[in-house]
Amino acid sequence: VNNDNQILVIFGASGDLTARKLIPAIYNLYKKKYLPEKYAIVGVGRSAYDNDTFRKKAVFENEHLKKNGDDSLDEFAQLVHYHSMDTSDAEDYKKLAERLYSIDGYHGTNCNAIFYLSVPPSLYSVIPKHLASVGLNKETNGWTRVIIEKPFGYDLESARALNKSLLEDYHENQIYRIDHYLGKETVQNLLVTRFSNSIFEPLWNRNYIHRVEITSAESVGVEKRGGYYDGSGAMRDMVQNHLLQLIGLVAMEPPVKSDAHNIRNEKLKVFQSLRPMTKDDIRNDVVRGQYLASTIKGESVKGYREEEGVNPESRTETFVALKFFIDNWRWAGVPFYIRSGKKLPTRVSEVVIHFKPNHHHLFMNQTEVNAQNMLVIRIQPDEGILIKFGMKVPGAGFKVKNVNMDFQYSELTDAYVPDAYERLLLDCMQGDATLYARGDSVEAAWEFIDPILKAWKEDPTIPIYGYPAGTWGPENVDDLIEGKNMAWRYPCKNLADDGIFC
Ligand code: NAP
Repeated sequence: VNNDNQILVIFGASGDLTARKLIPAIYNLYKKKYLPEKYAIVGVGRSAYDNDTFRKKAVFENEHLKKNGDDSLDEFAQLVHYHSMDTSDAEDYKKLAERLYSIDGYHGTNCNAIFYLSVPPSLYSVIPKHLASVGLNKETNGWTRVIIEKPFGYDLESARALNKSLLEDYHENQIYRIDHYLGKETVQNLLVTRFSNSIFEPLWNRNYIHRVEITSAESVGVEKRGGYYDGSGAMRDMVQNHLLQLIGLVAMEPPVKSDAHNIRNEKLKVFQSLRPMTKDDIRNDVVRGQYLASTIKGESVKGYREEEGVNPESRTETFVALKFFIDNWRWAGVPFYIRSGKKLPTRVSEVVIHFKPNHHHLFMNQTEVNAQNMLVIRIQPDEGILIKFGMKVPGAGFKVKNVNMDFQYSELTDAYVPDAYERLLLDCMQGDATLYARGDSVEAAWEFIDPILKAWKEDPTIPIYGYPAGTWGPENVDDLIEGKNMAWRYPCKNLADDGIFC
């Protein structure tokens, strides 16, 4: 690992994300000796910590740090500093600049800095502007990078405005829009599966693929984040970013090289090829739902509208499923399906490639539902890959049964699977933006989603269906998949309990 000496400035350091993901990710990099010789983390926020109280909170008492018994945290804690300021006050940034210059590892090392915005989205353009006003955007003596958390915009217009504001003071290659899905090992493995296996790539097109299905299911509801979620919903929270990014990787053409420029160019082309949805498509090919009160494993659970912080008349979707097309040479006519929701029967994210049935049905298995060949790429939990194919049932005749050939990452006992934030932070430290979303592709993804959100907002006759908590969403979601003997794939209920992939 070749890292420049650098400093990481975290805005929103008193928040949940910093404690749960960012500090543990840096700590793991530290333990693996991936940090450069001179390195410092500076937590920033309005909360009145000093270095010691922040170190206590972020390091010594942070339950999310996976400490080995013999680890001494003292040395790591010395890398951590805190600077208290009002991030919305321009005046305070001069003092911030002075503070940063005073920290060894910054002034002495060409001023390489990452500014991580782990704050509410209303500050995503405010903080970079203020940083620029005191020259902290400049790359005169080193480099400066800004990491922006999700959500990147609330709709197309706000995403464009945010990009525009950032680009007034920063070059695109200084802006890192994080999408933690892209940091997941199995998501990166999608590229390897496709482009390093000659058995898959020849089949990866409209001639052999019947449809592509992506599911991202959560068994939990909105928990304590009802207020936030009610202003967002499944389409903004999951589909516009994470799931469309997955579609980009599944559907893109082979890039010329495996670098940020080429991979992100190919992803952009996919988003630009998404067939825009007409009003009729939105009505017929998009299903939205909200979970209703129900009983799960003998316990009664609340409906979405009864959750704390949620408007009792809310029309925010906790479930969405859609069918759409990618209008390009490779995918002409192949339907893509996305389904995502809360309070579903299990927690699972997977990509399913359904291959076309044989042209001639010599044997009988094609009459069963979902009996064709299937490639399942499991993103979480139990990361791995599964191929379903037909085998002869022993005995008389030619009865065919679908069987599984699977690989799970957990089988690689010596493989350490880094957390997405660990991988993504390391990439940013090294200036590799491959797994970060580029501005043009974020806007292209919004261009596809925006008309759906607008139609929902403007047309009260578009229904929102209820589904009992603990089920796979509204009943009519199955109607989206029209083919004979075809349905969504329903992964087994208790993946973790069964420990198997099915
Ligand atoms: P959080 O705990 O609500 O807030 C982070 C920090 O921002 C707070 O500790 C607070 O620090 C500061 N802050 C809050 N309101 C502010 C305001 N009005 N003005 C100035 N500072 C304010 O949020 P989080 O869960 O850590 O998430 C941070 C960002 O990451 C959010 O944009 C979120 O959408 C995104 N994100 C979070 C997760 C996650 O798992 N938590 C996942 C993906 C994306 P001070 O009061 O000390 O200034």
